[in-house]
Amino acid sequence: MTTDNTDKKTQQKIGKVYLVGAGPGDPGLITLRGKYLLERADVVVYDYLANKKLLRHAPASATLVYVGKKGGGLHACTQEQINQLLIEQGKAGRMVVRLKGGDPFIFGRGAEEIEALVAEQIPFEIVPGVTSATAAATYAGIPITHRSYTASVAFITGHEDPSKKKSNIRWDKLATGAGTIVIYMGIKNLPIITKKLIDNGRDSQTPVAVVRWASTPDQHSVVGTLATITDVVHRADIKPPALIVVGDVVKLRDTIDWYEKRALFGKHVVVTRTREQASELVALLEEHGADCLEYPTIHIEPLDEYQVLDRELARIGSYNWLIFTSLNAVTYFFKHLYDLGLDARSLGGPRIAVVGKSTRDKLLEYGIRADLVPEKFTGEGLAESLIATGVKGSRVLIPRALKAREVVPEMLGQAGAEVIVAPVYQNVPPHGRKRQLREQLDEGRIDLLTFTSSSTVTNFLTMVDAGSEEELHRLLDQVTIAAIGPITAKTVEKSGLRVDIRPERYTIADMVDAIVDHYRHSGGMA
Ligand code: SAH
Repeated sequence: MTTDNTDKKTQQKIGKVYLVGAGPGDPGLITLRGKYLLERADVVVYDYLANKKLLRHAPASATLVYVGKKGGGLHACTQEQINQLLIEQGKAGRMVVRLKGGDPFIFGRGAEEIEALVAEQIPFEIVPGVTSATAAATYAGIPITHRSYTASVAFITGHEDPSKKKSNIRWDKLATGAGTIVIYMGIKNLPIITKKLIDNGRDSQTPVAVVRWASTPDQHSVVGTLATITDVVHRADIKPPALIVVGDVVKLRDTIDWYEKRALFGKHVVVTRTREQASELVALLEEHGADCLEYPTIHIEPLDEYQVLDRELARIGSYNWLIFTSLNAVTYFFKHLYDLGLDARSLGGPRIAVVGKSTRDKLLEYGIRADLVPEKFTGEGLAESLIATGVKGSRVLIPRALKAREVVPEMLGQAGAEVIVAPVYQNVPPHGRKRQLREQLDEGRIDLLTFTSSSTVTNFLTMVDAGSEEELHRLLDQVTIAAIGPITAKTVEKSGLRVDIRPERYTIADMVDAIVDHYRHSGGMA
C-alpha cells in the first residue's frame, strides 16, 4: 500500500453514532441490541431519564458524558450542543452510543439528532426502546388496550404551552376519538388537560392513573377520575417524571396490579458482599422488587506470590483432606492450579470437604464432587463434621484468604490433625463511595442492610465510620439488619446493633426468603 493511500484511509476513518433507546427505567428493559452496542462503545452520551445502571454495560475505558438535567435546568446541554458533540465524536472515529430514556423517537428529540448527523454525513443507526407509556401502564397493572374496553390508544405530549393560540393537539377529536390516551410530560398542565378532555366531551368519570418513575423502585401510582385526578396528584405530591393514563382500561389495575405488590417493592437494600459475589443476592432481592445499593465492602484480589500453595501442591498426595471454606477459596485455588498448567486430576489424593451448598456447587463447576458437606454451613459446623470422621493424625490442607478466622484450623489442630493453611486470595477494603453511603443513611433512604459474613460487617462499619456508638445508633436505628448466620450476627451484635432477620439455614437463598417473610409479616412496613 502506498503512503498516499494510507493517508487517505486515516482521513476517512469515521465513527458511527448509535441512537439507542434505554427503556423506561428498569435496566432489564433495554433491548439486546442496545446492550450489545453499549458493551462496545467508545463514548456514551446519556440523558437524565436513561437509568445510570445501564452504564455498567459500557467498557471501563469508555468516556461517559452526561448531557441532561432534570427539566432542562441550568446545566443541561442545549440540543445544539448535543448535536455538535455527536458530530465531533463521530468525526473523530469513535463508536458513540447516544442513550435516551424510553424510545428515542417518542417525544425524545431523537430525530433532530439524526438530522444533524445526516447533514454532516455521519453514519448512524437507531435502536428503538420500550417507551415509558407502555412500561408505566404495564407496571401499574393497566393494559393500554383490551378487547372489552378500547381498540385504540393515543400517545400525546402534555407539554404544549397552554396559552398557545393554536394547539397542535386536536382536543376535540382526541377527547372521544381514542379509547386510551397516554400523556407524556403532562403533570404541570394536568388541570388544563383534564378540562380540555371534559370540555370536548369525555365523561368526567373516566378513570385516570398517574404513574411516577415507572418501572423503578421509586414507582408511585395514583388513581382518580378526570374530575378528581388533579386533586389526587396534588395531595400525593406527584412530580415529574410521570405519565397520565386516561381510559376505562385503568379499572383493570384492581385486578392486574403486580409490580408494586411484590414483597420488597420500594425497599432500599444495602448489599455488602464483594462485587464478585453480590450477583446472586442482588438478583434474588430484585426478583422481589427490592432496590439494591451495592456497596462492595471487600474487594477480592489475588496474591503476589503462592509459595505455600506451590510447595503443598507438589506433595498433595500426602494429604487426607482438602478443605474449602468459601467460594473465593475455590475460585482462586483453581485459578492458580490452572496457571500452573494443572487441573482437577492432580488432586487425586485427598478427600474434599466444603463449608456449604454454594461452595459445593462451585466446586462441581471445576469437575469435583465434594466428599463432605456439613449440616451446619459454618466453619464450626465443618470442623465438627470433619472431626466426627476421625481426623487424628490426618493431614489437612486449607486454601483460603490471607486473613481469616482461625477457628477451623484451631479446632482441627486440637483434634489432632496436622493443618496447613495456604493463602490463595486477599480481602482489601475498596476505596471511595463512603460519602454516598453516609448521605443515604443520613437521609433515611436505607431500609435494610444485608450481611453475609463477619468481614462484610466489619468493613461496612469501617466504611460508615460513625465515630461513636451513639452516632452509629442514630444512623442505623431505623434500619433493619439481616445476617446470614450466627457468626455474622454475633459480629453485628458486638458493635451494639441488633439483628432483625436470621435465616434458619445459612444460605443466600434462605436469607432472602427470611427477608421476604419479615416484610410480609410486618405488612410491608419497615
Ligand atoms: N422518549 C421517552 C419520553 C421522553 S419525554 C420515552 O419514550 O419514554 C419525558 C417524559 O416521559 C416525562 O416527562 C414523563 O412524562 C415520561 N417518562 C419517561 N420516563 C418515565 C418514567 N420512568 N416514569 C414515568 N414517566 C416517564
